[in-house]
Amino acid sequence: MAIATVNPATGETLTTFEALDEQELERRLQLAEATFRTYRTTSFADRARLLNRAADLLDEDREDIARTMTTEMGKPLAQARAEAAKCAKAMRWYAEHAESLLADEVPAERDVKDSGGSRALVRCRPLGPVLAVMPWNFPLWQVMRFAAPALMAGNVGLLKHASNVPRTALWLEDLLRRAGFPEGCFQTLLVGSGAIDAILRDDRVKAATLTGSEPAGRAVAATAGEMIKKTVLELGGSDPFVVMPSADLDRAAETAVTARVQNNGQSCIAAKRFIVHADVYDAFVERFVAGMAALTVGDPMAEGTDVGPLASEQGRADLEELVDDARRGGADVLCGGERPDRPGWWYPPTVLAGITREMRIHREEAFGPVATLYRAGDLDEAVLIANDSPFGLSSNVWTRQEAEVERFVRDLEAGGVFVNGMTASHPAFPFGGVKRSGYGRELAGQGIREFCNITTVWHG
Ligand code: NAP
Repeated sequence: MAIATVNPATGETLTTFEALDEQELERRLQLAEATFRTYRTTSFADRARLLNRAADLLDEDREDIARTMTTEMGKPLAQARAEAAKCAKAMRWYAEHAESLLADEVPAERDVKDSGGSRALVRCRPLGPVLAVMPWNFPLWQVMRFAAPALMAGNVGLLKHASNVPRTALWLEDLLRRAGFPEGCFQTLLVGSGAIDAILRDDRVKAATLTGSEPAGRAVAATAGEMIKKTVLELGGSDPFVVMPSADLDRAAETAVTARVQNNGQSCIAAKRFIVHADVYDAFVERFVAGMAALTVGDPMAEGTDVGPLASEQGRADLEELVDDARRGGADVLCGGERPDRPGWWYPPTVLAGITREMRIHREEAFGPVATLYRAGDLDEAVLIANDSPFGLSSNVWTRQEAEVERFVRDLEAGGVFVNGMTASHPAFPFGGVKRSGYGRELAGQGIREFCNITTVWHG
């Protein structure tokens, strides 16, 4: 894929970029290694000062970077602004909390005695240069949720961003440099995905994190496995959204629409499969379909737009194939389902009912504003349908029965269970999945420790 900024609202190529040549890549790897040698010895206070400064600069430039993101990948401008604000919040959160999250742990005295020692502690030390392979859908947030904890832990970052968001990728590198981080602390590598294997095999790169699709995750994890390097994988999702009879149906339906179409439907944690108890199925579906059909689809730069174009022509073709396959298999199209005849990569909010296990959309991720509906006879059936997916990122359940909440928390195969609300990430809560949604966690204390050398210090 060419490294280029292409406006998805029009299909127009705005700028193309040359990939780094071998010499420049080598220079950058050397710089990362050299910078790490000194940066790892800096204090938490110094790192926090730089990260807070970067957060202030990000706030100052919010409008500019929001417009860049919308231009490159088509999300509505208001959502791009919110993404930028969320990044600044996460940077400040890690600036404030990293030191206590990584503070030395002291084992119980009797365990130290039992080991024959006089003193012991566990210290989190940085690992070194970490490669971050990132997707275009939240082009700032996905990177910052890696970069903020990594930099606070004393690591340095090498960003391989998605090929369709190069302006955002270069802006990020510049932001951290302007904030005062030494040049090699965070570098953007403008390279195609074909270059990843060799970079990951390089001894100077100590670990990798990848947010993206399953094939990309598998490729990076395979190489990292061969090289015995730690990885964190944040992959796709097809989150269930379960509605039980005691739910507040108006709120559930309204949230369901937002949860499905946020980011033009291209979010890993978007609710994608709507599993509704038979007693409230008709009432919920009526509200939900009305909400989906009423959305404003249009220019993502315009205020008031709910849904913009998909980010790429290929992404739209993939989504369209899933819908067409379901239609051929007998699914009912309750709204949407036909692409409009206009330049750019548009696809309307779509709701499909009558989904069967044979349909591809039942097992695959619909990365766009397409919802699937399921009718469940009781809670057990709802759990069965919810878990009948290769993915396990997050889940949403709507009920006012505490006993039902406990059942869902016990039984849903997912890295999150959000009750009476939609899944959203927050710096203080760990984020990640199970099954083919990946492994490892980002954010919170769990996230910052992923790329640490957790070191036992023991005194005889
Ligand atoms: P993608 O095609 O997998 O791309 C993600 C990144 O991986 C890009 O930088 C891409 O580079 C690179 N890449 C692609 N193939 C590769 C390979 N074989 N080896 C190494 N690197 C490779 O995914 P996407 O289309 O950008 O993003 C959509 C996917 O990401 C969805 O499945 C979504 O659910 C998932 N996602 C997950 C999370 C989460 O937190 N779990 C968050 C957001 C998105 P190029 O652009 O150069 O190809």
